[in-house]
Amino acid sequence: MHTGDGAYIKKLNRSYILTEIFEHHKISRASLSKVTGLNKATISVQVHDLLEEDLIYETQEEHYSVGRRPILLSINEKAAYFLGIDLDHEHILFNITDLKGNTVKYEKFDLHTDVYEEIIVLMAEQIKKYQQEFDSAKYGLVQTVIAIHGTVSTDNKIHFIPRSQWRDKDILTDLEKLQIENITIENNANLSAYAERIFQYHKSENLLNINFSSGIGSGIIINGELHKGYHGHAGEMGHMIIYPKGKPCRCGNEGCWERYASEPTFFENANKLLNKKIQTHTDIKRLLNEQNEDVINALNIWIADLAIGLNNVINLYNPEMIVLNSPILKIYPHSLEEIKKHLISSVSQYRDIVISGLGAKASVVGACAMGIQQFLDLPRLTLSETNNSISH
Ligand SMILES: [Zn+2]
Repeated sequence: MHTGDGAYIKKLNRSYILTEIFEHHKISRASLSKVTGLNKATISVQVHDLLEEDLIYETQEEHYSVGRRPILLSINEKAAYFLGIDLDHEHILFNITDLKGNTVKYEKFDLHTDVYEEIIVLMAEQIKKYQQEFDSAKYGLVQTVIAIHGTVSTDNKIHFIPRSQWRDKDILTDLEKLQIENITIENNANLSAYAERIFQYHKSENLLNINFSSGIGSGIIINGELHKGYHGHAGEMGHMIIYPKGKPCRCGNEGCWERYASEPTFFENANKLLNKKIQTHTDIKRLLNEQNEDVINALNIWIADLAIGLNNVINLYNPEMIVLNSPILKIYPHSLEEIKKHLISSVSQYRDIVISGLGAKASVVGACAMGIQQFLDLPRLTLSETNNSISH
């Protein structure tokens, strides 16, 4: 460390203090001093600044029986707002949270085009609308993070989106031309993993989140950090081959995991078994309520293939927490039990496996959380799940 790095140390101390206020929700100056190890004078100066900046406010415990009620500090959630956008193939989700990560607005729009230029303009218009709407807040709408359903390069460009066939799109520059700034892009499965860690499994340093939708995508957290790989493309687990010379895949190989355990495959198989057309999650729910044997059979066959890939992934990572984000698994009450039946290898080790509670909103709330962390420059962030989950 260099001498004269006072400003740097001050910045570090500030981020320690903010991190603790987020984690404790309400905390006194004395307790802050205890948990950060910083002396009371430092706490006092920093807290003074944060109050001046309107990032925190003073409050008191409502029910406090003994003695004088201590003054507590809390994050001022109304100071700044964050926009998360999930840019999917057929629709776009927009989610706005306050500084505490509480969703204050959620909108879903159907997309009737996959032309890049048209979608950029549409997004820019919507972002401007939200910027105006939250203009009266101290910092307004400060940061937008876009979830990309494809690979994102380390230089912040869209590398490839398979569904729309977009390649090498410099989306940040293109939005800047439309007067939209403060944008970050990130792969949607990475943001889902990030959301699970920040909103749900705070203590999990090694977390694996796998999304099963039109394809299979995953986000990997190792030692508390997103693992992105050399080009930023890590986590393309859907293209792991689970059946040599199996079904052809759009990637050019045969027998990829996502040709067996993605949603479209489930519906394909179910339709063959059931001899009738089912297309939606509501159809699955209805048939399960009717205790339809064929649909249970189709689910179990799909889960058996899902578990083959999962077994391989567990062997690669030895994860602490595995979060499976899939509407189908969420609907089927026996899904975890069925999955675990196939994970019998004495070598494959993991601590826990769960179905995501954040569901379809994981990537957008993860995007907002990433915005908060960037805005305040925090090394670690803990938020609580309030109204952030929706059913699929
Ligand atoms: Zn493939």
